[in-house]
Amino acid sequence: MTAAVMLVACGGDKKQTTATPEISDFNFRVDTFADIEILRYRVPDFDSLTLEQKTLVYYLSQAALAGRDIIYDQNCRYNIAVRRTLEAVYENYRGDRRSDDFAQMTTYLKQVWMGNGIHHHYSSDKFTPHFSQTFFNEAVKSIDSSKLPLAEGQAVDSLLALLGKVIFDPDFMPKRVNQADGVDLLLTSAENYYENVAQQEAEDFYAQMKQPDINQPLSYGLNSKLVKENGQLVEKTWKVGGMYDKAISQIIFWLNKAAEIAENPQQKKVIETLVDYYQTGDLQTFDHYCIDWVADVNSLVDFINGFTEVYGDPLGIKASWEAVTNFKNIAATKRTEQLSSNAQWFEDNAPIDPRFRKETVKGITAKVITVAMLGGDCYPSTPIGINLPNANWIRSQHGSKSVTMENITEAYDQASLNSGFAQEFYWSDTERARAKEYGPLTGNLHTDLHECLGHASGKLEAGVSKDNLKAYGSTIEEARADLFALYYIADPKMVELGLLPNDSAYMTEFYTYIMNGLMTQLTRIKPGKDIEEAHMRNRALIAHWCYEQGKAENIIEFKEKDGKTYVVVNDYDKLRTLFGHLLKEVQTITSTGNFAAARSLVETYGVKVNQTLLNQVIERYATLKIKPYKGFVNPVYTAKTDKNGKIIDIEVAYTENYTEQQLRYSKEYGFLPVNN
Ligand code: ZN
Repeated sequence: MTAAVMLVACGGDKKQTTATPEISDFNFRVDTFADIEILRYRVPDFDSLTLEQKTLVYYLSQAALAGRDIIYDQNCRYNIAVRRTLEAVYENYRGDRRSDDFAQMTTYLKQVWMGNGIHHHYSSDKFTPHFSQTFFNEAVKSIDSSKLPLAEGQAVDSLLALLGKVIFDPDFMPKRVNQADGVDLLLTSAENYYENVAQQEAEDFYAQMKQPDINQPLSYGLNSKLVKENGQLVEKTWKVGGMYDKAISQIIFWLNKAAEIAENPQQKKVIETLVDYYQTGDLQTFDHYCIDWVADVNSLVDFINGFTEVYGDPLGIKASWEAVTNFKNIAATKRTEQLSSNAQWFEDNAPIDPRFRKETVKGITAKVITVAMLGGDCYPSTPIGINLPNANWIRSQHGSKSVTMENITEAYDQASLNSGFAQEFYWSDTERARAKEYGPLTGNLHTDLHECLGHASGKLEAGVSKDNLKAYGSTIEEARADLFALYYIADPKMVELGLLPNDSAYMTEFYTYIMNGLMTQLTRIKPGKDIEEAHMRNRALIAHWCYEQGKAENIIEFKEKDGKTYVVVNDYDKLRTLFGHLLKEVQTITSTGNFAAARSLVETYGVKVNQTLLNQVIERYATLKIKPYKGFVNPVYTAKTDKNGKIIDIEVAYTENYTEQQLRYSKEYGFLPVNN
């Protein structure tokens, strides 16, 4: 459906203002620990905003940080206690801070910050502490107990007994979100969306609320915790005066300030409706807010703030709190507008069966944004694209906003440039030089073509639905959008529209795509396993199909050098023709709902893994010390005021490191108590 797109990113526009640090002077890499690298992102063009817009960004950014504790508590009810205890030890421990135990505890604390709790942000598995419980107990006892998150009258020993289980017992709450078949998903998941409620009870509770005949259904259960009290199921709503009151009141404080200096009446209405929703918890008001938000297309500054995505609930009902403050990247958005306004030309010339072309195609209006602040479930790990709102009826009747976060992809890109990746895996300096010059540009253009045109192109035969392809549907759909992008990025139209500088820049996108699909993406697969994730299957499918079809003419080749395997593309023209052929086939499968053909294509080319190559890729990655997951630190905004307290400027700084930022956030935005 909608949702956050997590990709191995590529991108970065080359425009700068005088005040934003140049890419070459900017330190994108901040910290590494466990399987994580922390990066920093720039906020290009912040200084081109008016004082009102900067102030609006500032207020909305405060609102984005004010809800930080909510996501900790949502992820697991012990997270705030764990975080605050670890932070107290980190800041106050006077024993040997150079001991291995202390170092391991610090790593664990950094992991807790990254996961917004004791579970991994991606796998949702509980972190393993590599410091001893004896050390931990002694360290906690050695510090002033007023620094600890003790409840009224609670003894330190009782806190330690609880945390001993939470941190050190691998069998206690081992998984945040359990998706395994055949067990009670709520009783086996550590998330804090339900308490003392079995899966069947929760499903029954929400099933009786659903009214199937209603075409504008409310998002029942979205903004509450479901608990059993005295044998009764009760929703604890997240609102003023309800659960999370203290954090929500702070969010509202900043939203009210933002409403006062909104850019236009529509945006003011959006913010006021959101405040109303936070005050009442009323889901009808939430829908009004979503509709108003979609209609706000003229503001430069925009934001997400609220209970949004449902991936953290095994039943997909309850939403985690997230926030993103941003403003439109006007130059890059022109690029997406160029594509949208030529959408019909692309459709009419697509290399697919004319029966399946759309007579009138409407490009999706998507904008490119500059992220100014990440919060809640979007921090420290963030998506690079978001498409909201999630309610299907609002999407079909009012549309949706799709955003690409280009300054985030820039950071990913810049960090990988110096990682040694190209040196290790690219065949020659020709490919390396091309990637350096055109990689970010073509990577972004690929994303634009994929999102704005690829998914929106083509049509289904009467009576066919996308559900016909069942479990293969999302892999085939992603392949269709990728092939559309790959085919057209090599089209002379790109140069004609001024989107690419010459007729060879596209080659770098072809090369990296094929190399990734045939080889380097295997780094995410565990030895002995096959490919499961839809996007990865799609890339493998395209790359392997083209490799096989092009074998006779040696279009794509595996070459060996010093015992290492490389991918070489020998004929870019012919590779484009292959992309066109496969697009035609995939479009026909989609349009006719041909399940058997979809299964055959995916199973033949997209699933199986050459285990020898997989092991080689993992070994080569290990020598590069590239971390598989990235998180971010935010910039720091400071309001400069005159002697009357009136804001005269907002300054942005990029100096805070990961630990400093997390500790500061805990102090400045630690609004929630340990037990909510
Ligand atoms: Zn897609």
